[in-house]
Amino acid sequence: MSTSGHLTDFDLVTVPGGRLEPATALAWNAMRAAALREAAVTLTIVQPLAAVAANTPGSYRSRATSLDMRARPALYNITPGILPGIPSEHEDGDAIDVGAGLAWCTANGDANLHRFGFVRTKLAIGDKNHIKHVGTAPADSGSTAVPTEEQEEDDMATKPIYYVATGNNKTVTVGKGDIWVRSAPGEPLRRMTQGQASDFWALDGLDLNSPNVHQMPPEWFDAAFAEDRTVARLNALTHPS
Ligand SMILES: [Zn+2]
Repeated sequence: MSTSGHLTDFDLVTVPGGRLEPATALAWNAMRAAALREAAVTLTIVQPLAAVAANTPGSYRSRATSLDMRARPALYNITPGILPGIPSEHEDGDAIDVGAGLAWCTANGDANLHRFGFVRTKLAIGDKNHIKHVGTAPADSGSTAVPTEEQEEDDMATKPIYYVATGNNKTVTVGKGDIWVRSAPGEPLRRMTQGQASDFWALDGLDLNSPNVHQMPPEWFDAAFAEDRTVARLNALTHPS
């Protein structure tokens, strides 16, 4: 890998609104998919003014961009009082400034960030939306969570997740009442066959109130399919066959 602050296209993966080193890109996309799937929340990366958007300051940031941010802070939507560090964690490609969806990330003591290996490393200076990928949950990640809830979440991670369409979708083939399923979190969405769907409501313990059954509006499916394509493409890039 190239030097911090001087990464190249070979070191970085493009994600919506930025660039990240590959492991961070995978974790970020997995977290984005989970936010969409579990809470219909879209996570974004903070964007500067369009004139300097190509500098991707909210994800990988070159040293030149760090310097430009200090010289022209108004172009970068910088939080007043917080100037970029030099060097910055962003120069390693594993830090993100979260825009939309931060509340979902940080609920319950940053529980969702920790699930995907992210920590907030700049809270001490009031930089609340800056997250860094550290790969594994920090040692204190469970300190604010109730153990039984964690256990439930672990169990949920191995169960299929069902999505019942609440309406018709015009751009993809989703009809009202269709049942789509992910065999596990992160797996692609598949439509249940007619036979599976007719058996669905007879499955043990499954009804619309089950924690792994979600009713979703038609437009949700477009976003979910787009996420699937993004993740599949990233997996192909990161793990060439
Ligand atoms: Zn940051």
